[in-house]
Amino acid sequence: MARRPIIAGNWKMNNNKAQAKELTDGIMYGVSQLDAAKMPEVILAPTYTALWQVYDLIKNEPKLSLAAQNVNPNPSGAYTGEISLDMLEDFKVKYVIIGHSERRQMFGETDEFINEKALAILEKGLIPIICCGETLEQREQGVTDAHLKKQITLAFKGISAQDAKKSVIAYEPIWAIGTGKSCDAIEANRTIGEIRKVIKDLYDSSVSDEIRILYGGSVKPSTIVEQMAQPEIDGGLIGGASLKADSFLDLIKGAM
Ligand code: PEP
Repeated sequence: MARRPIIAGNWKMNNNKAQAKELTDGIMYGVSQLDAAKMPEVILAPTYTALWQVYDLIKNEPKLSLAAQNVNPNPSGAYTGEISLDMLEDFKVKYVIIGHSERRQMFGETDEFINEKALAILEKGLIPIICCGETLEQREQGVTDAHLKKQITLAFKGISAQDAKKSVIAYEPIWAIGTGKSCDAIEANRTIGEIRKVIKDLYDSSVSDEIRILYGGSVKPSTIVEQMAQPEIDGGLIGGASLKADSFLDLIKGAM
């Protein structure tokens, strides 16, 4: 079955109120010129502080959906600085990015915690975008596929086949994130094919054929067309190039 492509912009810790408005307005204007039937699903992942504003700006634009960059899996309570799924629901957040390498590396998030988040997100009826990826050292040691298998197997623990089908995976080689050095499209396609095999082994081909797997890591307007031409790559999770309306719109057009 045909998988609808996704272009998702991860704004990370960028954009104050005025910048978030300017960027969202630019994207809104750009997508208003595009044919909805040919467009990928376009997702914006602002910071928590801009969620309300971006939600308000895009709430009547069906071409755009909202993602959070993180969530705490607990329903409420003494978790200073954290945000719950209930709070995200107020802003009609559809997706939640989890397992980003920046959170794994800088904030010590484990595979088990990421699994806990995935289960809580799906339980609430939202969709996790589950990130995985290897370090340069792992790639050079030839353990990329084994590492990804472990990350994916642990992230999907206890997730039903029905929920797995709706989930999204983002393969993001850590050495390609924010470095300007995108993974070669053929190799990204091969690696994503391996991730799809892991999903097939965990579930069956109805799940592995349906689940969308994105590539992330220095995706740019100059790389997107080749990346989208790969049969296993269902779209992009984009950091740097999602921060300017023009380049983000070029990525959307590159996925059409
Ligand atoms: C990311 O952080 O998810 C990412 C892929 O960033 P960049 O596009 O800047 O490499």
